[in-house]
Amino acid sequence: MDVEEFRKAGKAAIDHIADYYAGAIDSLPVNSLVQPGYLPPLLPDAPPEQGEEFSAITEDYHKLIMPGLTHWQHPEFMAYFPTASSFEAILGDLYALSIPTPGFNWTCSPAATELEIVVMDWAAKLLHLDPAFYNASGVGGGALQTTASDSALIAVVAARERFMTLHADDPPNLANLVIYVSTQTHSLGLKAGKVLGLRVRALEVRAEDGYALRGETLSRALEEDKAAGNRPFVLIATVGTTSSGAVDSMAEIGTSLKSHPDVWLHVDAAWAGIALCCPETHEQLQLADLNLFMDSFCTNFHKWGLVNFDCSTLWVRDRKALTTALDITPPFLRTAQGDAGAIDYRNWHLALGRRFRSLKLWFALRGFGVEGFRKHIRHAIALNQTFAALVAKSELLELVTPPSLALSVIRLAPPNVTSDALNGLNTALYARLSARPDVALTQTTLNGVFCIRVAIGSPRTTEENIRRTFDAIVEEAKVVLGELK
Ligand code: PLP
Repeated sequence: MDVEEFRKAGKAAIDHIADYYAGAIDSLPVNSLVQPGYLPPLLPDAPPEQGEEFSAITEDYHKLIMPGLTHWQHPEFMAYFPTASSFEAILGDLYALSIPTPGFNWTCSPAATELEIVVMDWAAKLLHLDPAFYNASGVGGGALQTTASDSALIAVVAARERFMTLHADDPPNLANLVIYVSTQTHSLGLKAGKVLGLRVRALEVRAEDGYALRGETLSRALEEDKAAGNRPFVLIATVGTTSSGAVDSMAEIGTSLKSHPDVWLHVDAAWAGIALCCPETHEQLQLADLNLFMDSFCTNFHKWGLVNFDCSTLWVRDRKALTTALDITPPFLRTAQGDAGAIDYRNWHLALGRRFRSLKLWFALRGFGVEGFRKHIRHAIALNQTFAALVAKSELLELVTPPSLALSVIRLAPPNVTSDALNGLNTALYARLSARPDVALTQTTLNGVFCIRVAIGSPRTTEENIRRTFDAIVEEAKVVLGELK
């Protein structure tokens, strides 16, 4: 492809993307209708010997790939948590792709590092993080990561490093180190343990506490573990758990950790963190103390934050904990600027190279502004309130937990059905819903109760989409109940 062919094909690609968002997406089923193994028989088993015309490649994209897509930007996609997209971020990424730079050192492309330093501070201000976490503080700071799982893994590595340093006189046996999570923490906690070969203890939460981790549970576990010779060194707490949007009791956790200052508090707010841009959400979730206690904080702009995957933001209170753990500087990576103190972001994440992600975050932050972000979050929360009100009025459905931000957790709970039968009924309901091309929801269990999650977050979702999803659930619920009779 020469440059003029690129210009023509590029304009056609933008037209296609614009058409997709202008309405084509609405006429597509939110779920793909293909079956496992659909694609390999449709493709050659080796790359072509000679390069092909680009028109043939894009034709196959539309014909073969599109049908196998789940449309996460569809206004009726309410499964998992949303995966964000905005035109600003798409264009930011397009520019980033046009100037590939691996960004590991400041010298790789000074603008890439310096823009990240600035936008991470903008993002910290958007989310009301304490100035201690700003890059401008020179002590704390933030960097973009691929995912919340990477962010948590890095936080655990930094926590371990700090713990080993603090206890240099009495070096812990690695077999005694323990990562704390709650039973509601995302599987990223268990994965960090698996990758690092460390034990993970999942602390219990109660339904009556809204599945939030309480300070007393944490204190008891810390005392038990320490008495048994174990060395808990990090807690991964959550603001907005995956199953129910629960928010761990941060003030209590902070109080409990006051007696255990060597335990690092990582806050995983992968989904809900963006909602902290709204002052009322901050207040409602009682997170005023969060800034005082936490050592690191992560949220994914690529979930509910208007920036296309990947864009996970991680802040630490003490950047040295991170760089001490991750900095390896062989001669070929050494630079005068790095020696003089310029940030080399390779020391803030796992890999060496990194994408120029700050460009899309910058475009989105400028394009929407703080007010645009707040409007987007409030829109989804308001729609969820509408949905939750429909459930509350329904005779067939119930909310299993109070709605959390833009997430409702529901189940079929008709009168005169024993509680033992409810899990079976709901499993059947979910099976019917997931077989439909027009409904995208996910399942979970909360202390053994089978539930269905409805997660709202696309800027294109309207009240009509909410009602259609609600009607589909009721329709399938009636079929399930009919089968019971
Ligand atoms: N944390 C929470 C609370 C989540 O809900 C999720 C995914 O939905 C994750 C972490 C994992 O995010 P990532 O895919 O960025 O690792």
